[in-house]
Amino acid sequence: MARAIPRRDFLNGAAMTIGAALLPEIDRASGTNSGQPQNQTGYNPPTSVGLRGSHPGSFEIAHSLRDGTFWKNAATPEPVSEKYDLIIVGGGISGLAAAYFYRESVGPGAKILILENHDDFGGHAKRNEFHLDGKLQLLNGGTMLIDSPTPYSAEAAGLMKKLGIDAVALDKKCSDHDLYKSLGLGTGVFFDGETFGADRLVVEAATEDRENSGDAPDTAKLEEFLAKTPFKGPARRDILRIERGEIDYLPGLTSAEKKDRLSRISYKDFLLNIAKVEPSVIPFYQTRTNGEWGVGIDAEPALDCWALGLPGFQGLQLEPGAAPRMSYSAGGYANGGSDRFHFPDGNASIARLLVRVLIPSAIPGNSVEDIVTAPVRYDRLDTDNSPIRIRLNSTAVRVRNAAHSNISRGVEVTYASGKRVFSLRAGACVLACWNMTIPYLCPDLSDKQKEALHYLVKVPLVYTSVGIRNWISFQKLGISNINAPGAYWNSVSLNWPVKIGDYQSPRSPEEPILLHLSRTPCKPGLPAREQHKVGRMELLVTSFETFERKIRDQLARMLAAGGFDPARDIEAITVNRWPHGYGYEYNPLFDPEWPEGQQPHILGRKRFGRITIANSDSGATAYTDVAIDQAYRAINELLTA
Ligand SMILES: Cc1cc2nc3c(=O)[nH]c(=O)nc-3n(C[C@H](O)[C@H](O)[C@H](O)COP(=O)(O)OP(=O)(O)OC[C@H]3O[C@@H](n4cnc5c(N)ncnc54)[C@H](O)[C@@H]3O)c2cc1C
Repeated sequence: MARAIPRRDFLNGAAMTIGAALLPEIDRASGTNSGQPQNQTGYNPPTSVGLRGSHPGSFEIAHSLRDGTFWKNAATPEPVSEKYDLIIVGGGISGLAAAYFYRESVGPGAKILILENHDDFGGHAKRNEFHLDGKLQLLNGGTMLIDSPTPYSAEAAGLMKKLGIDAVALDKKCSDHDLYKSLGLGTGVFFDGETFGADRLVVEAATEDRENSGDAPDTAKLEEFLAKTPFKGPARRDILRIERGEIDYLPGLTSAEKKDRLSRISYKDFLLNIAKVEPSVIPFYQTRTNGEWGVGIDAEPALDCWALGLPGFQGLQLEPGAAPRMSYSAGGYANGGSDRFHFPDGNASIARLLVRVLIPSAIPGNSVEDIVTAPVRYDRLDTDNSPIRIRLNSTAVRVRNAAHSNISRGVEVTYASGKRVFSLRAGACVLACWNMTIPYLCPDLSDKQKEALHYLVKVPLVYTSVGIRNWISFQKLGISNINAPGAYWNSVSLNWPVKIGDYQSPRSPEEPILLHLSRTPCKPGLPAREQHKVGRMELLVTSFETFERKIRDQLARMLAAGGFDPARDIEAITVNRWPHGYGYEYNPLFDPEWPEGQQPHILGRKRFGRITIANSDSGATAYTDVAIDQAYRAINELLTA
């Protein structure tokens, strides 16, 4: 029997979330932690369905701080007698790594408290856990891969090694990249009626893993595919030319000159005005960059799209080499990362490995493989028995150096949990939270630093996990993943086939499986940061019911010919809503060229007394290795100050 989630729970997804607001009050003043939400029996946030990611209960305090209403209504802070060497704000990969690096330097007795506003640790590296037909199935709620556009640094790669992660070896041992192909499943493209005139799913035959086989792309297959699409003659010819043509659209320029030109125009401009394609071709490519940068090709430089592998540049003879934001290089992954290995819960496994190293009693086991199925004892994350503690459902609201407060040295950190506010002291503080929140936490920062911190506002996106009864409809249609360039969900795919430790993902279409759906809300035509703003607003006002309706509608339309019936086949839904998702990466089309050292992330992350700043925002990119690198820097700054 599947663990059927009653439909009313879908419709009331927020109520399924374990948030601070919904659980008992903390009994911190009396010196016990017994009332803390995370200590309640059965507390296991990864199994919550409904609206996850930045779930209800996680962001309201931060928003009221931003809006200037928090202190008007807040209770008087209650002093807490606990004393720490270090308090870290943010329990994502960067915060956890900061705790790790600090303890490495200071010694095993280092007393560290990590405050996290969500009901789980990991930050974006979150786990979605389902039990379908009684069997564990996992998906990443956020961070998917141990990948990066640049090789992992010695520190990030070193941490991976310490955690036992050899991504390349794990890929060889645990991934089954050929499973779907062996079942005859390939890729489909869904042309939605609203964008392309009529709903149509066009299936591409299962092909070799080209990236690995080194085979040339097959033009005949592409022609066959295009013949089935809604595109008419000229548009079809243009797509074929863009995909396969060896045309130099910028004759007479050197490679460097071409690259310079391509860095100043969008890919959409390149297609329309340089390659001169039919405008009707654009929707086919519009969302190709959404998953990478959160906006479409209208707002992404053509040069970055070339580096990302988008077509049209084959005849330009561009010399290999980095584009500003895309410098994938052969062997770049060997040093710590892999764009092919995926823990079943994504990089949540990295967060769990870190927590196990920091608080061994909280997660049993001892290998990189057993972490996947190891249960977390949430009630052991914040106890007197461990020098390192993780306090969930706790939003930092003020962080002050001694000079700006009533204490004689160190820092004072104030946080809110539920309706209560607590005040703590520590030797120092690392802000491993989001840069744009820091000006509200540290009002004593200079205006210049605040302005720089405000610049790094994150990119919104949504990853949704849908449990379905079986994947016979996918088998009948011959697809394992679908790109839907114009639809609400831009991609839908069967979960990655992985076998690791005791975990085995489904292998037979008769078994239940998880689908991964993604959406990047944005508003084509506006500058990138404006598009993100519109997308964030959209996420804030989109209810779970709307997400659910969009899921049911789109899956029904895409998969009907395979016999999919959403009412019968959908078992569970978790919408991971990330209004503050990817760290912002400067976009050469819209951002100024600051002099070296004057970029907002450099100015923003400056040490402030006993407070330093970590988080991937401080590296102006959205990758796990950067979150680790910034943690390393922030701890180093503290120790050398
Ligand atoms: C959907 C998605 C997919 C991604 N996929 C990949 C990928 O495949 N590969 C990759 O390398 N990277 C990926 N990334 C980026 C990667 O997840 C991040 O770069 C990295 O995890 C950031 O870690 P962090 O600790 O710096 O920040 P976060 O993970 O954001 O953690 C910071 C934490 O601080 C908390 N916080 C903020 N303010 C406060 C406060 N006032 N009090 C207490 N806590 C606070 C936040 O809620 C958050 O939990 C992805 C990101 C997203 C959103």
